Amino acid sequence: MAKVLDGSTDGVKRAVEILKEGGLVAFPTETVYGLGCDALDENAVRRVFEVKKRPLSKPLIVGVSEIDEVYKIAEVTGEAERLMKEFFPGPLTIVLRKKLVIPSIVTAGMNKVAVRMPDHEIPLKLAKKLGRPIVVPSANKTGKPSPTTYKHVLEDLGNEIDAVIVGECSFGIESTIVDLTVRPARVLRTGAVKVNELRKSIDVVVEPQKDEIYTISSPVYVFVGERAEERVREFAERMAERGMKVAVIARRKIFENTIILGESIEKYSSKLFSAVREAELLRPDLIVIEGIEEEGIMDRLRRLAGEKIFRA
Ligand code: AMP
Ligand code: MG
Repeated sequence: MAKVLDGSTDGVKRAVEILKEGGLVAFPTETVYGLGCDALDENAVRRVFEVKKRPLSKPLIVGVSEIDEVYKIAEVTGEAERLMKEFFPGPLTIVLRKKLVIPSIVTAGMNKVAVRMPDHEIPLKLAKKLGRPIVVPSANKTGKPSPTTYKHVLEDLGNEIDAVIVGECSFGIESTIVDLTVRPARVLRTGAVKVNELRKSIDVVVEPQKDEIYTISSPVYVFVGERAEERVREFAERMAERGMKVAVIARRKIFENTIILGESIEKYSSKLFSAVREAELLRPDLIVIEGIEEEGIMDRLRRLAGEKIFRA
């Protein structure tokens, strides 16, 4: 079973020792929980793919503790410098031509590497004290929503990783990814940094998003639009009348079984994934979510519900 460490100096020190031995440590970041190892240790990286059951064709993001470190692992362009100045540390990942030090398993054999500098003291300290970059994929099994609490990490990976550090994630959705190896730069994944924010620094186009659908143990329905709350309540009540067990995830309590996200967009996004896991534990016949049409959040709702998103 994974050791549960706190974010104190001692906890971080122990975690760094584990990383030095090639171990795997999960930690909070400002987006979601990450699963880290020494990014230059090929065997450790292989274990990350194994425990996440992640296909070797899907590259890992590399986390650094300082902007200077990016120059050691990648070819830094002018656009990269502008974005780093504006958004590092923060929930933006940039894709650059890689240097040889990064093992090819990290990048799924590609000659480019995705890099970010998390805005959270735990991963920053880990990479700094290790003196090397760390990989920072989400700490879940492939196909599940990303974990945002250490308990959710333990549910998914508790038996297979060496330690988890207790702490808080703030955004609750993943980093925005922009590929700077092409012109114009391409947003590969929308996320916590808005495309319009990027456009203040560089020219970008947004790739059609390849949404992978998460595996949720009950079917998920989402309603968005002005009447979303009303439609969620109506739908939940109708299904309950038919004898189904319904779990609702909404901004306020609108049904008996409601997991409440809160009114602000920040609260909504930070709690969405953990609310889905909470709803799954109720073993409902269906989960109904009040969606909000925010960039980044809509992506995650599509991954949760697939085609079952309705505009009200
Ligand atoms: P995740 O670890 O689930 O946050 O996913 C990381 C995502 O980052 C991948 O699915 C890719 O879209 C992207 N990514 C990571 N490394 C690279 C790379 N070297 N080149 C292009 N995209 C990358
Ligand atoms: Mg992931």
